[in-house]
Amino acid sequence: MIDVVSLTERLIACPSVTPADAGALAVIAEALAGIGFTVHRFTDGGPPDGPVENLFATRTGAAPGPHFAFAGHSDVVPAGSGWQSDPFTPVRRGDLLYGRGAVDMKGAVAAFIAAAARVPNHAGTLSLIITGDEEGPATHGTLALMEWMAANGQHPDMILVGEPTSDRRLGDTIKIGRRGSVNMWIEVPGTQGHVAYPHLADNPATRLLRILDRVTKVRLDEGNRWFQPSNLEVTDIAVGNPATNVIPAEARARLNIRFNDEQTGAALVERVRAVVAEEAPRATLTAKISGEAFLTEPGLLSTLVGAAVERVTGVTPALSTSGGTSDARFLSRLCPVVEFGLLNATMHKLDEAVALADLHALTDIYERVVRTALER
Ligand SMILES: [Zn+2]
Repeated sequence: MIDVVSLTERLIACPSVTPADAGALAVIAEALAGIGFTVHRFTDGGPPDGPVENLFATRTGAAPGPHFAFAGHSDVVPAGSGWQSDPFTPVRRGDLLYGRGAVDMKGAVAAFIAAAARVPNHAGTLSLIITGDEEGPATHGTLALMEWMAANGQHPDMILVGEPTSDRRLGDTIKIGRRGSVNMWIEVPGTQGHVAYPHLADNPATRLLRILDRVTKVRLDEGNRWFQPSNLEVTDIAVGNPATNVIPAEARARLNIRFNDEQTGAALVERVRAVVAEEAPRATLTAKISGEAFLTEPGLLSTLVGAAVERVTGVTPALSTSGGTSDARFLSRLCPVVEFGLLNATMHKLDEAVALADLHALTDIYERVVRTALER
C-alpha cells in the first residue's frame, strides 16, 4: 500500500518550479514501478522553456476493457516570499499539510498512485500521463506526451485530470469543459506633434480609445447551458508620454478574451482586427490563442466520476466550465475528459495547504473511479 500523505510530502520536497523537475518524476516513477506499471520517461524542448521532463506509465489488466487514464503535472508555480515555513519543506500543522504544490497538484498525483495501488487487478488499461510543464508555456508537456502516445499506440478512452476543481468543500465541483483564452496586443502608430497644432499630428491615443470603446461594447454571445457568456477585458493601456504639450507617437493596449464553445480564438481575433483596421489602418494586432474552449458533454465519464464523489463525500457535484485553462484543453482532442481534484482555495498562493482528510478522501474517490471504469 502507498500512503498518500507521505507520497505528497516526498513530491513537495522536490522544488519543481517549471520547467525544473528536481527529482519529482523519479519519485513518481519509482512508486509506479513498484505497483506494476511500465514507466516511460522522456524530455522535450530546450532552454529557456525546457528541457521538460514527461512521464507516461501504464498497467494492463488480465481481462480486456477500456483504457482509463489519470492526467496531471509535477511542476509548480514559484513559491513567492512570505511563507510561514519553507515552501519546499512539507510541514503538517494541525489537520493540514503545507507546501508548494500541496493542492496544485502533487496531492492529486499522489492520490492517483495510492488509488492505483489499491486496485492491483483491473480490466483494460490504467495509465498516468504526467508532465513537468503545465504551469509554464505548456509547449513541451502534454502536447509532447500526446505525440508520444500516438506514436506508441496509446489511445485512452477516458481521461480524468486531477486539477483542483473543488470550490468550498471537496466534491462540490467537477469540470466538464473550460473556456478558451486569447490575448491580443494592439499597437497604434501616430504622428507626434504639438498639442496646439493637432492638424499637423495624428493622435494614436484617440484612435486607440475608439478601438477599445468599440470592442468592449460588443456582446460576443449570450452563453449557453454549460458556459457563461464570452467576455473581453482590456488588461493594459500604455502611451508613456511624459510631456503635457506633445501628441504622442504611439499608443498600445492589450486585451484578453475568455470565450465559450460558441467561439473560436481565430474568429475572435478577426473580429477585433476588423475594428482595428477601421479605426487605425496603420495599427498592428498580434494575437496568441492560449487554448480553445472545449466541452465533454455530460455522459458516462462525468456520471461515473460524479457517483464516486457522491459515494465518498456525500456531496452531489455541480458540473462546471468555470475557471482558467488547463491541460484538459489538449487532452479533450483524444477522448472524453473531466477534471476533479482538491480544493482550489490556496492554489498558487502563499502557504498553499491541503487537508489530510481531503487527501484520503480523494484517494478513495479515485479508487472508486478506477474500480468502476475498469470493472473486471
Ligand atoms: Zn495545476
